[in-house]
Amino acid sequence: MKVVDEVLIPPREGRTIKVLKDQTLRVTDVEGEQVGDMVVLNLHDKRERYCAWLSQQLQGNLLQFSTLYSNPPFMRPMMTIVEDKVKVHWAGASMCNRLLLEKRGGVGRFGCNEILAGILYPHGVEPHEVPDVFNVFMRMNIFEDGRRENGFPGGKKGDYTDFLSHMDCLVGISACPDDLDPTNNFKCKSLLMQVIENS
Ligand SMILES: [Zn+2]
Repeated sequence: MKVVDEVLIPPREGRTIKVLKDQTLRVTDVEGEQVGDMVVLNLHDKRERYCAWLSQQLQGNLLQFSTLYSNPPFMRPMMTIVEDKVKVHWAGASMCNRLLLEKRGGVGRFGCNEILAGILYPHGVEPHEVPDVFNVFMRMNIFEDGRRENGFPGGKKGDYTDFLSHMDCLVGISACPDDLDPTNNFKCKSLLMQVIENS
């Protein structure tokens, strides 16, 4: 295993990293019980990005699937999960935001949406164009009547998920700043992104 790049994401912050075709992105839950909101864009054409509804539809599951597909009209596999120590993720595309945090008592705070908008802007993505997210390590409880409720996170210290990239990608992750509910077990921590060269 040869790590060719790595970026630590401090608590409540976001970072980007480039992952080239046939490289693997490893996302590690450094301290445990921290979720990350991940966006994936085509490095060379930011109009192509991970699409949650298409990925859910093609693989018939709201919570668990292995391949992250891009939006129409592109509709191509962008990344595939090839190893997963956690197997708990939320693929419903929702991300915390200033309005949600305000409703929970966190007035004036930024959520993953605002954090991702900030890190993607230098790459030419406008704030109203923040793509769908794949919520690594996040547990979403879904009930028969349609209610949904954030559960406690799935990852323990050192757990990771590996995504094999099928094209050159720009990946952005927000180390979720929500400490007002069980999402991150009420404490915000860091995440680690590593790019692994497959030879
Ligand atoms: Zn969040």
